[in-house]
Amino acid sequence: MTLALYGLGVSRGVAIGKAYVLSRDEINVTEYSISESKIEQEIQRFKEAIAQAEQQLHSVLKQIPESTQGNIKSFITTHLLMLKDDALARIPIDIIRERACNADWALKLQRDALVAVFEQMSDDYLRTRRDDVDFVVNRVLRILLKRTDNAVNLSPDSLRGMIILADDLSPAEIVLMKNQNIAAFITEYGGTTSHTAILARSLSIPAIVGVHNARTTLVSGEELIVDGRQGVVLASADQNLITFYHALCGKQSGLIRQLKQLKLQPAISQDNIKISLRANVELPGDFAAIRDVRADGVGLYRTEMLYMNGDDLPSEEQQLVIYRQLVEAADGAPVVIRTLDIGGEKSVASIQQNDVIMNPALSLRGLRLCLKEISIFRSQLRAILRASVYGKVRLMLPMLSTLHELSQVKALLVEIKQELTNEGHAFVENLPIGGMVEVPAVALAANVFARHLDFMSIGTNDLIQYTVAADRIDDSVNYLYDPLHIGVLRLIHMVIEAGKETSIPISMCGEMAGDVRYTRLLLGLGLREFSMHPAFLLEVKQHIQKSHVANLREQVIKVLEHGEHSAIHELMLSINHD
Ligand code: PEP
Ligand code: MG
Repeated sequence: MTLALYGLGVSRGVAIGKAYVLSRDEINVTEYSISESKIEQEIQRFKEAIAQAEQQLHSVLKQIPESTQGNIKSFITTHLLMLKDDALARIPIDIIRERACNADWALKLQRDALVAVFEQMSDDYLRTRRDDVDFVVNRVLRILLKRTDNAVNLSPDSLRGMIILADDLSPAEIVLMKNQNIAAFITEYGGTTSHTAILARSLSIPAIVGVHNARTTLVSGEELIVDGRQGVVLASADQNLITFYHALCGKQSGLIRQLKQLKLQPAISQDNIKISLRANVELPGDFAAIRDVRADGVGLYRTEMLYMNGDDLPSEEQQLVIYRQLVEAADGAPVVIRTLDIGGEKSVASIQQNDVIMNPALSLRGLRLCLKEISIFRSQLRAILRASVYGKVRLMLPMLSTLHELSQVKALLVEIKQELTNEGHAFVENLPIGGMVEVPAVALAANVFARHLDFMSIGTNDLIQYTVAADRIDDSVNYLYDPLHIGVLRLIHMVIEAGKETSIPISMCGEMAGDVRYTRLLLGLGLREFSMHPAFLLEVKQHIQKSHVANLREQVIKVLEHGEHSAIHELMLSINHD
């Protein structure tokens, strides 16, 4: 009988292969005393383990192909930096001295102390940081304890074609496994925005996270099917299912070849509606992808990565260099630069935020934080304005909640423009200003906001979490995080209609825009501008080319009025059936 286990499909694609259970039991560390005369020796053992961990990570870095997107390297460089940080490199040495204990115990104590701090903060981004501490500490512990159950130590090619099952995987392990040509991976922990998920998407590895008990239910060597679209793992599948999925795998490789041929074709529907497809980018390493997939420019540049990767804030000049590179990479096409959007699940060490916040997503984040930290905001606005002379720059405000915030930004821009003029810097006087629709109140009043903005972009990642009141990265409520909730669909529709009424362009830059399951639904709702991770753009284009927008509209609007969950699901089946 077929056994199905469910998790979150974080990276689309289907794979069939043998399971490889990466059994990594809790690393049990016990304390023992070190005699006075052996303490320096123990410290030396600790330092050598740190050095060896560094060497391992450097060797992983070398194995990342040059063409790989920047964020993959940055995950591993973050781990390298952590190995050099006092918190991990020095404090355990102090503990060894003070307690006269073994190095592994000292490191474990320090790990527990760091994790306790992160857990108390209840900030989603810091939860990811907590995983980083675990990855780094476990690597050093394995070296100290001479444990070899680490994917990094597996011989080359031993994992080819396998489906890896693990508790969680570090970025370094994922990169190495990709190089070993694994077929897919399944983890017991992690959400859609965890590093594991982001990496799986960037590297195009089918993956499912959050499959609780996967390692106790499944065994190494058994044949598995991983369906990353549906978030399901199948074991002991019957012959019909195996045949179905083999056919799907075949189609998948054919599809990749077909998609490449779409690069030069426009995104035009069967009934001649032109759709604009833009790219979401985060790091300079992503900029080349804009041209690779022939995107119609950039619909979302998430600038927070500039702030999150270093100890210091980026200066105006440093930002200008990057923004200019981006605008030049877009080659004359529009580039939407979103101002700093931290807080919520993203935090920046060099910007002070409230220490303990019950609901970080509802607190000081995005534009709210920028309007409080005016000097940081000012330097970013200056850099964006100065970059505007190199191409078609548009400024976009995240987490916009009120018109008052917008007036504050406009007043600040007037001041900054005067300053730049006095200093002799050039800029585009009428720089278009857009707002993200992430707060339900803004969606409900979209026609009012639209009168004061040059464009709006629907940020479904946040709009959904706020509309259904379910944290976007919390495993325990992910069943509520539903893009097809009638409330969400009606809000999206209202925003699109407001755009028509006021003649301002409406785009969508949340994950929903890059998910082909929703392409036709969004076309039917009237969306004409999509912005997404470049990896999804050609597949979305293919769906658009096969769609008849007017027919879709009729079906979608009918169901929108009706609103029953079952009707929405029937609609999805019917419009995606081909
Ligand atoms: C969104 O909320 O949909 C969005 C695009 O912004 P981010 O994912 O960066 O919060
Ligand atoms: Mg958002």
